[in-house]
Amino acid sequence: MFKNRFMPGRSAALALTLTGVMGAANLPAQAEEKPDPAANALLYAVAWKQTAAEYRALYHQGYNIARDRVDAALAAQKPGDKPLAVFTDMDDTVLLPLPYWSRLISGGHAFFDDPVWDEWVPQNDLVVAPGAKEFFEYCQEKGVEVFYVTSRDQGPNTYDYALGNLKALGLPYADPDHLTVLTDSSNKEPRQQELAAKYTPVVYLGDNLNDFQRKYYIKGDVPARIAAMEEDRAEFGRRFVLFPNPTDGHWMAAVFGESEPADTPEARAKLLEAAVTVLK
Ligand SMILES: [Mg+2]
Repeated sequence: MFKNRFMPGRSAALALTLTGVMGAANLPAQAEEKPDPAANALLYAVAWKQTAAEYRALYHQGYNIARDRVDAALAAQKPGDKPLAVFTDMDDTVLLPLPYWSRLISGGHAFFDDPVWDEWVPQNDLVVAPGAKEFFEYCQEKGVEVFYVTSRDQGPNTYDYALGNLKALGLPYADPDHLTVLTDSSNKEPRQQELAAKYTPVVYLGDNLNDFQRKYYIKGDVPARIAAMEEDRAEFGRRFVLFPNPTDGHWMAAVFGESEPADTPEARAKLLEAAVTVLK
């Protein structure tokens, strides 16, 4: 099932929405039912991920900061202290699903699509994030353990797929002791707290604020989510290292009320509203 395919009538509904919001009077009629790939709502975000040197540089920046944090923690460690650890998310932090986004766009989808994602994940066609492997190898060399905590659900093989993704890229600590896969919740805090009882977390890595703390999981309220982040502004680039993700994540839940909305006229209208609303 392709729940997010462009639907007949969507173009007309979007045109009406645009007319209402933007005040444009003479938008061209779009009678074609076939989706126009060039009108895909995801194009800017995905083109940026695929091509921008800035996108890749942000990973180097994040992993350079993480390495500095590890070095500082090692220098401050005293005999008898708990061992040091790094807690990391997987997708869009360590593994970049760039071929998935290419497939999604080519298939005419303009919103995240679970069936496409679920079919693609087991294929081990991920790209390692720039600087990630080198950083984790550095941690391993220094005796700092890395724990992967991810939220995924591809059915009974979810764990094996996730472990396979890490192993396929030759990442350190790709083993059951260091990988936790949450299939029924995106709340990572219970597992992180469990690990923090035995290890001192040096740094948390993620592309979603929810990778750091559950308090940022706020649906349908963009200003509240921004305010929650601002409370912790001193943590970014220190305890929390954040990577860029303009295509998916809980920022979308703040806009749409859910992380993976279907491609409907209502979702398009919310996207447009999000784009024209200036928050100061
Ligand atoms: Mg992620």
